[in-house]
Amino acid sequence: MQIPDRTRLLRELKNQLLFLKDAGYSEIPIESELFPENISTSNTTPINIVENSQKIKTLTQVRDELGDCTRCKLSNGRKNIVFGSGNPNADLVFVGEGPGADEDEQGLPFVGRAGKKLTEIIEKGMNLNREKDTYICNIVKCRPPGNRDPEKEEIEACNPFLLQQLKAIQPKVVVALGKPAASTLLGRTVPITKERGTWHDYAGFKLMLTLHPAYLLRAYTIENRKAVHSDMKMVLKELGQ
Ligand code: SF4
Repeated sequence: MQIPDRTRLLRELKNQLLFLKDAGYSEIPIESELFPENISTSNTTPINIVENSQKIKTLTQVRDELGDCTRCKLSNGRKNIVFGSGNPNADLVFVGEGPGADEDEQGLPFVGRAGKKLTEIIEKGMNLNREKDTYICNIVKCRPPGNRDPEKEEIEACNPFLLQQLKAIQPKVVVALGKPAASTLLGRTVPITKERGTWHDYAGFKLMLTLHPAYLLRAYTIENRKAVHSDMKMVLKELGQ
């Protein structure tokens, strides 16, 4: 290969990778058709990639792919898969850790006491409508027995579906609710009381960390309520509201 060809190809490859990053990709599945063999190296304008980026699945397609999932052992004890609920085009997505007993029973996220608190935060605190303005889901879609924390293999099995959900929704802001969700999304142990109220990046999405509503109910102090209020004010500002 001539040196100029190599330089040009590397430059074009870099441009394509940057374009994919902007389109929300954080990894390249090598078996996918993102780089079909017959892609023209002389026409590397984003047009080819735009066509391919449209292959990002819709929420319905992601749900269909999940199916009656048995990818991890949480399937053994669940009553219902809790995929998520809300507006598939929401600017704001809340991500919790996993379904509890009420959620497992109803197949819907955040419907128990903590869910009611989250609704209050969204509707009274932020003046938004839970169903119309947000989408709510969890890191794992099946209830861990006894509400224990999800295990590493369970998170690894389920996390690709969360990522696909976010890519389908393309929210402006993702909010991680509580330490397990924040730690999973950031890939490290997050001291949530210290790091809440700070912005991060998750797969190209703006990520805010805040306290879990269940924790807020357990430790219903003025300090914690003010902290969540302040975090949500930052979210609203980012959303332009
Ligand atoms: Fe499948 Fe996720 Fe449920 Fe595990 S938690 S069985 S990966 S849907």
